[in-house]
Amino acid sequence: MATLRVAAKPALAPMKVAQIAKPGADFEIVERGIPEPGPREVRIKVLACGICHSDVFTKEGAWPGIQYPRVPGHEVAGIVDAVGADISEWQRGQRVGVGWHGGQDNTCRECRRGDFRNCRNLKICGISYDGGYGQYMVAPVEALVAIPETLSDAEAGPLLCAGITTYNALRHSGAFPGDLVAVQGIGGLGHLGIQFANKFGYKVAAIGRGSEDASLAKKLGANVYIDSRSTSAAEALQKMGGAQVILATAPDSKAMSALIDGLGPNGKLVVVGATVDPIAVTPAQLINGSRTIQGWAAGTPAASEDTLRFAELSGVRPMIETYPLERAGEAYARMMSGQAQFRVVLTM
Ligand SMILES: [Zn+2]
Ligand SMILES: [Zn+2]
Repeated sequence: MATLRVAAKPALAPMKVAQIAKPGADFEIVERGIPEPGPREVRIKVLACGICHSDVFTKEGAWPGIQYPRVPGHEVAGIVDAVGADISEWQRGQRVGVGWHGGQDNTCRECRRGDFRNCRNLKICGISYDGGYGQYMVAPVEALVAIPETLSDAEAGPLLCAGITTYNALRHSGAFPGDLVAVQGIGGLGHLGIQFANKFGYKVAAIGRGSEDASLAKKLGANVYIDSRSTSAAEALQKMGGAQVILATAPDSKAMSALIDGLGPNGKLVVVGATVDPIAVTPAQLINGSRTIQGWAAGTPAASEDTLRFAELSGVRPMIETYPLERAGEAYARMMSGQAQFRVVLTM
C-alpha cells in the first residue's frame, strides 16, 4: 500500500531581529523567517541601522496605531536582496537605504500636489512596518534611497534621518550665504547641522551648554561658540546683528523659547528637536521684526539622496559609535543617555 506523503513547505531560513514585544518592553533578540517582498516592495539585507531618539515612539508605544511586536529603525543602510513584482527601477545587489519617510499613499491631497513629505497617510519605517534593527527587512519602493559608493553603510544610516532633517531644514530656511545662522544643541542633530551650515556658506554660531563643546563646535565648522550656561545666547546673537535662522536641535522647549529674542528682522526659528513641551512666545516677540517659528520633519527619499550626494561632495559626515545588533538594548540606552558622540549605529 502506497503511503501518501505531504511535502513539507521548505522552512524559511531564520534571521535575527531586535524587536519590541509591547509598549515599554525591553529589546529582545529573536529569530524569525526572512520575509518575502510583495509587489512594489524590495527585501533589504540590512548592513547598518542608526538609532534615533524618535525610536522612542516604537519602544514606548507613543505613536498611535503601532502593531506589536515591532522592529524599530529608520536609519537603514544595506543592499537590495530580493525584488518583488512590478519593479524595474531597482536591482538586486544595489546599495539602498530607508529613512523616516517610509512611503506615501500617492492619493491624498498633499501627494496629488507633489508634497509627498506631508502625505496624510505617511508610512514611517520602524513604526508602520518593521524597520532596520534586524538582518533583513521589506520596504516599499517609495521609501528607497540610493546610497553613493563613497559612503560607508554606518555613515549613510544617520544621514537618512539626522542628516536629511538638518540639511533639508537649512536649505529651505531662506538663509543666504553669509547670513548669521545659529545651531542650538551640539548632539546627534546639531553636530550635522553645524557642518551643513558651514558648507552652505553661513556665518555659523553654535550654541551649547558649558565650555567643553567649544573646540569641537569650531572643528565642525562653527565661526562662533556661545555657551548658553554662562551667557544669554539671545543677547550674544543680537550683538552680531541677530540671527537670520536659528536651527533648534536639542529637544528642550525652554531653551528654544529663550532663543527667540536672538532672531534678527524676518528671522526664523526652525524647530527640529522633537518634544511635547510647549514653546513660550509672546505675539509681540513675533510681530516686532516679523519673526516666524517653523517646524521641519525630514523629507522624501529624493531629498535623502540630495543629502547623501551633498555629504559626498562636501565631506560632511556623522560622528558615530557602532554596536552589533545583538547589543541593541545597550546601544539604545547609550543613545538615550545623551552621552553618545554623536550617533549610535547598529551593524549587522
Ligand atoms: Zn529619526
Ligand atoms: Zn499622501
